[in-house]
Amino acid sequence: MKKVLSGIQPSGQLTLGNYIGAMQNFVKLQHSEECFFMVVDLHAITVPQEPAALREQSEAVAALFIAAGIDPAKANVFVQSHVRAHAELGWLFTTLANMGELERMTQFKDKSAGKESVGAGLFVYPTLMAADILIYNADLVPVGDDQKQHLELTRDLAHRFNTRFGNYFTIPDPYIPKVGARVMSLDDASKKMSKSNPNAGSFIALLDTPDVIRKKISRATTDSGREVKYDPANKPEISNLICIYSHCANMTIADIEARYEGQGYGPFKKDLAEHVVSVIEPLQTKYNDIRNSGEIHQILKQGAERAAVIADRTLADVKERMGFLPPR
Ligand code: ATP
Ligand code: MG
Repeated sequence: MKKVLSGIQPSGQLTLGNYIGAMQNFVKLQHSEECFFMVVDLHAITVPQEPAALREQSEAVAALFIAAGIDPAKANVFVQSHVRAHAELGWLFTTLANMGELERMTQFKDKSAGKESVGAGLFVYPTLMAADILIYNADLVPVGDDQKQHLELTRDLAHRFNTRFGNYFTIPDPYIPKVGARVMSLDDASKKMSKSNPNAGSFIALLDTPDVIRKKISRATTDSGREVKYDPANKPEISNLICIYSHCANMTIADIEARYEGQGYGPFKKDLAEHVVSVIEPLQTKYNDIRNSGEIHQILKQGAERAAVIADRTLADVKERMGFLPPR
């Protein structure tokens, strides 16, 4: 049985990109592997969060994990800040990382671009992510394509620790879907869909109402042609929509192209919206049940307790290897 770890930031409403790129694999992997799925609140505060919104979104992300099909009897679901060892190991890894390698992170460049003041947390956050993964000695990390570079850094830091302090950490592998690893924004197909994008029209939120979903898809940017053809280099907008369609309708790209041949974009977008709604509606029903029942708090408590046993042990081992004086 492999160990699997991943997390999603409560930095806004979860999107279809998070679902297709990451959560669907969480659900898949829980049946065969030992899984740890976190609401990474310590990551979310690397950009300013309003306290009440952070609290609400943290609970919402956890409830969406369960609504999407994660079974808390099979996987550990918890909030990152509830397992205190993450922050402490994160600091230890920050001291192992170099400025140069953190400066190369494209996500840091994207998220800090054009900002007058950039938080130091945003800069060092990949070292905390490394701690999150390595603290459970994870073998596999199901993520979208945008996290590949951070995972490379995690592997480098694990290797560096092992070289300096003796072999201890497993070197983890990314687990990235073949199709849907980078769902693009609806308003700009050169950017990935992101829940923290201030333009809500750029993403489909898992909690958007069916009418909002229909409206967002009908307004999604396309080229001025009319051929429904998968061609990411020349038709990035339509290719992105085809990819979403393929996931939500469980149809191959070739079948989708054949179905809309000669019909233009109108019927394609209309059907796409219904397929997205058919995936999201049952998820929302489950989500509402979970939120109303209040059971999420118990799930998170148990998840954190189980996770902390492993995390505390790793932290103690690491501190011993690094030469910290143990308390007596
Ligand atoms: P933020 O804008 O706050 O960074 P986000 O939408 O990028 O939010 P994260 O919490 O950073 O979401 O990432 C959660 C998981 O979803 C990660 O595994 C990430 O790779 C994946 N993911 C995020 N956006 C996409 C996307 N557009 N397509 C596929 N996977 C994605
Ligand atoms: Mg992100």
